[in-house]
Amino acid sequence: MIHIPFNKPYMTGQELGYIADAHANLQFAGDGAYTKRCHAWLEARTGTARALLTHSCTAALEMSALLAEIGPGDEIIMPSYTFVSTANAFVLRGGVPVFVDIRPDTLNLDETLIEAAITPRTRAIVPVHYAGVGCEMDAIMALARRHGLQVIEDAAQGVTSEYRGKALGSIGDLGAYSFHETKNVICGEGGALLVNTPERSLRAEIIREKGTDRSRFFRGEVDKYTWQEVGSSFLPGELITAFLWAQLEQADRITGERLASWRYYHEQLAAAEKAGILRRPIVPDTCTHNAHMYYVLLTADVDRDVVLRQMKQHGIGAVFHYVPLHTSPAGSALGRTNGALPVTDSLSARLIRLPLWVGLTRAEQDEVIDVLLRAIDLAGHRRPATV
Ligand SMILES: *Cc1c(COP(=O)(O)O)cnc(C)c1O
Repeated sequence: MIHIPFNKPYMTGQELGYIADAHANLQFAGDGAYTKRCHAWLEARTGTARALLTHSCTAALEMSALLAEIGPGDEIIMPSYTFVSTANAFVLRGGVPVFVDIRPDTLNLDETLIEAAITPRTRAIVPVHYAGVGCEMDAIMALARRHGLQVIEDAAQGVTSEYRGKALGSIGDLGAYSFHETKNVICGEGGALLVNTPERSLRAEIIREKGTDRSRFFRGEVDKYTWQEVGSSFLPGELITAFLWAQLEQADRITGERLASWRYYHEQLAAAEKAGILRRPIVPDTCTHNAHMYYVLLTADVDRDVVLRQMKQHGIGAVFHYVPLHTSPAGSALGRTNGALPVTDSLSARLIRLPLWVGLTRAEQDEVIDVLLRAIDLAGHRRPATV
């Protein structure tokens, strides 16, 4: 029996009230008052030209591929160490993911390896802000501009995080957020697309509304709406966005509570890192993060399966991710790597994510740490860490 779960969705207490309000107003289709509130909040917070709620981050990435006009054979540079949607969204348009290795410190796309992966077919770079910690966006943007490439930020984990004072997702041409139940600010299934160049916001609205200019029609800018280009239905219904509004209102409090738990793990595990038992996350000075995740990296001689099994036996919901995309059946068939990915291969096999949610107590964290360290001992730790 798991008594300290890996994740526990946090409810602000306002969700049902706002849903009841939308219900009382008979507003169920999308783009009602709650959606507008969420859009305004996201635009004010991130400084983006246009924020558009979607039914998932996956949907926002699919919209990005349409907006970026990705077609068959176009290459998109991205990490292999990411969630499947980062790649899938482009493969749906016929694009080819080109996987590049990650940095050993942040586990983010290694910006120094991007240039070597660029070919005449390259169209876009997709930095993934792992654990809500920003990629080296200055270098990535400069490189993209030099080569005429688009930058689409997978900021699924990065709501409220910043890189050099700019909201993650607002730095590239497009950015995608997730409000999935496992993220910090949630609505079950949900996401948002940040359209950072104003010239693109009309097309983004059209793609999101089944390829029609219905959004303009609702604003009274046209007297009928018609099919304008390829699109789909990417907008969430209003009950979902009423739920999300309750969470966005409390986004800073949620981030603050998570950060307090994150820092406690970090302090309590400092000695273990010093002793070479594990490695803690590294956050560059350029980044303020949202404590989306607390992970540790085991040393190469420790059997992760044994550690995870031990933790489960002691009722603790620790997990790992990701199986690198280049080693997956679809990723190896539909994408390619540029050279070997030694950091991805090594670190992905050694990472463990610890429970982290609003309401987690210090006593529970002490127990997680105690069980983790004993499990590592049992799983054969011998030598000091090499990273
Ligand atoms: C969660 C996540 C996604 C997918 O988000 P959904 O809202 O579930 O579609 C995509 N990319 C990354 C890096 C994620 O962590």
